[in-house]
Amino acid sequence: MTVYLDHAATTPLRREALEAMLPLLTDDFGNPSSVHSFGRRARAALDDARERLAAGISAQPREIVFTGGGTESINLALKGAAWAGKARGNRLVTSAVEHHAVLHALRHLEKFGFELVVVPVDRYGRLDPEQLDVAINDRTILVSLMMANNEVGTIQPLAEVIRRVRAHKGVVIHLDAVQAAPYMAIDTGDLDVDLLSLAAHKFEGPKGIGALFVRHGTIMLPQLHGGTQERYRRAGTENVAGAVGMTVAYELARAEQQVTAPRLAALRDRLRDAVLAVPNVELTGHPRKRLPGHLSVIARDAEGESVVQTLDLAGVAASTGSACTTGSTEPSHVLTALGYPDEEARGSLRLTLGRTITDDEIDQAARIVPQAIIRTREAAIALAVDPLGEQVGA
Ligand code: PLP
Repeated sequence: MTVYLDHAATTPLRREALEAMLPLLTDDFGNPSSVHSFGRRARAALDDARERLAAGISAQPREIVFTGGGTESINLALKGAAWAGKARGNRLVTSAVEHHAVLHALRHLEKFGFELVVVPVDRYGRLDPEQLDVAINDRTILVSLMMANNEVGTIQPLAEVIRRVRAHKGVVIHLDAVQAAPYMAIDTGDLDVDLLSLAAHKFEGPKGIGALFVRHGTIMLPQLHGGTQERYRRAGTENVAGAVGMTVAYELARAEQQVTAPRLAALRDRLRDAVLAVPNVELTGHPRKRLPGHLSVIARDAEGESVVQTLDLAGVAASTGSACTTGSTEPSHVLTALGYPDEEARGSLRLTLGRTITDDEIDQAARIVPQAIIRTREAAIALAVDPLGEQVGA
């Protein structure tokens, strides 16, 4: 059996969520906007999901907008808040290690007269609150930050960072909580942000559904126009089964966090020790302030893509970094921002654990991963040697 170690890319749908979704995909298939009993049943299920998801993040039901996933939540938040704030200013601020959903949405806005300032991070991927402070001027209308990074697992020093941003009046704060949500409490009572993005498939919910928290009073222009759904903020027939599956998965993830997080951290540390025992392998991201199931390394002289392919054949599913940039020849923008030269960034490997992982699977991975790195290096050396055994160019 292949050990799945790519939970940062996506997770399996958990059974409780699937079971809660099934009636909405079969007998109770109605459109929540329909007046008849089918519609009313769908509406009741959607209202219930909204109330429960809101309660799970200490929000009010009307502050939840169901979307088509993390990317859509982020695009709605950033474009919606930027356009709504255009009369007040045009500066948008973010960090260099954001997901492409954030960076590319903001780069798109630059074409329309917005000014983007990208704040650097340290060697671990952490923002310096002072540098962020300097980037914000009186034309700044929006700051977008992430709770935890998808490629290197680093958790941002949020309380301090948010406090600094809040000192500037009139700045809307968006938080990308997509990777953090399975393992960290999301409490909009404590987190002083205006917009917050979630994606269900990162915490064993279904794909194709996400949510955007929009704090009451935050002005955000819709980006999808059509019907009146989601209080005019996101037109289109709602994904009722998805909303229900997302809510059930979130409630369970939140209830289990206290147990899941330390268990995964301990398993991750076991795997980390085995992988770091290989010569010339270095941990990327913060050594302690990182997501519990997240391990990311750079193995020098072992191309990440080749290691992932070797691992796949050997029974471990891993990735080089963000699933969205896999296959691209560009080095990861995150590792570049952390200061790694292209040559080193190419040796990146990400192993991410999830709730369902077992001790035996980690033991299996702890045997296979080091061998795969060593074998990839040997294969690279063999390729550089001619049939007579002489080094090319020697
Ligand atoms: N933000 C972060 C931090 C992510 O890790 C991801 C997905 O990997 C996204 C946003 C985008 O989410 P989705 O691919 O579900 O739209």
